Amino acid sequence: METRVVFQSEQNIDAAVMKEAGDLIRAGELVAFPTETVYGLGGDAMNAASSAKIYQAKGRPSDNPLIVHICRFEDIYEICSQVPPEAEKLAKAYWPGPLTMILPKAERVPGETTGGLDTVAVRFPSHPVAKAFIEAAGGFIAAPSANVSGRPSPTLARYVLEDMDGKIPLIIDGGAVGIGVESTIIDLTGEEPELLRPGYITKEMLTETLGTVGQDRTMMEAHPTGRPKAPGMRYRHYAPKGELTLVSGKSDRVAAYIREQCRLAKAEHKRRGFCVRKRVCSCIRRRYLTASSVWAAGLLRRVLPESFIGC
Ligand code: AMP
Ligand code: MG
Repeated sequence: METRVVFQSEQNIDAAVMKEAGDLIRAGELVAFPTETVYGLGGDAMNAASSAKIYQAKGRPSDNPLIVHICRFEDIYEICSQVPPEAEKLAKAYWPGPLTMILPKAERVPGETTGGLDTVAVRFPSHPVAKAFIEAAGGFIAAPSANVSGRPSPTLARYVLEDMDGKIPLIIDGGAVGIGVESTIIDLTGEEPELLRPGYITKEMLTETLGTVGQDRTMMEAHPTGRPKAPGMRYRHYAPKGELTLVSGKSDRVAAYIREQCRLAKAEHKRRGFCVRKRVCSCIRRRYLTASSVWAAGLLRRVLPESFIGC
């Protein structure tokens, strides 16, 4: 299968492209699309065969349920059998946005979409292209991140293509996505709202809206003794191909450490990544990125070969 990549700007969404994407979804195909968190791999949430295709394209274990994306708050009542006041409060505060709520599922949502669970994960994303796509596709898009299972979630269409080339007919390229980490997941089916996966919306923000919010105990344990309640948290996740090191300390020492590690990595033909604090990152950039950008890029590559500095 040939995979087409079509660019769509947020300001100027082409109705013909959205119609084409919607038709593909109705025909049971998959389409990758940008959201404000990461790129999603979308299929018709109400079509069991589409959800099965998503698992196949990602190589994702089929007990790891998909998030259903909607483009109007009211549609929550179509896929959830109960919507407690907490869900309405959270929606008012954070939707459209990077928050996923777990609620009891309505009968019409196939078990293939929810990994066999009687609950469903729902999210209303804020990205204009995502909203237009979901609407054109009939309103209910099941979508995990558009990467092969275990790999980092894609933030550019180019990364989606790396993992999905030949497997899906269309990638909607909306440029770089802003947040880069997945949505926060909160479970509203228990006695007390419970955070299942951390994300852009913090526990503190949720607590401010709801009063009290618990936390899945297994979430922060390196070797959890219990089973995480979000099935996806049981698997290897965010695994880049190189080794990633979190570096903190004074800018000079951080720069020296990174330089030395890069030298060693280069000698061994290995890829290394480094995460540093934003302040340190801009300081390293300032130090090595002065004059013209061409000169600076060359210098940065020499200083930090085969590596990146993330903030
Ligand atoms: P992804 O689509 O890759 O962001 O992963 C979706 C996440 O939502 C996974 O960690 C799933 O396990 C979790 N999830 C989806 N549906 C449910 C559900 N009904 N109950 C608990 N966790 C869920
Ligand atoms: Mg994912």
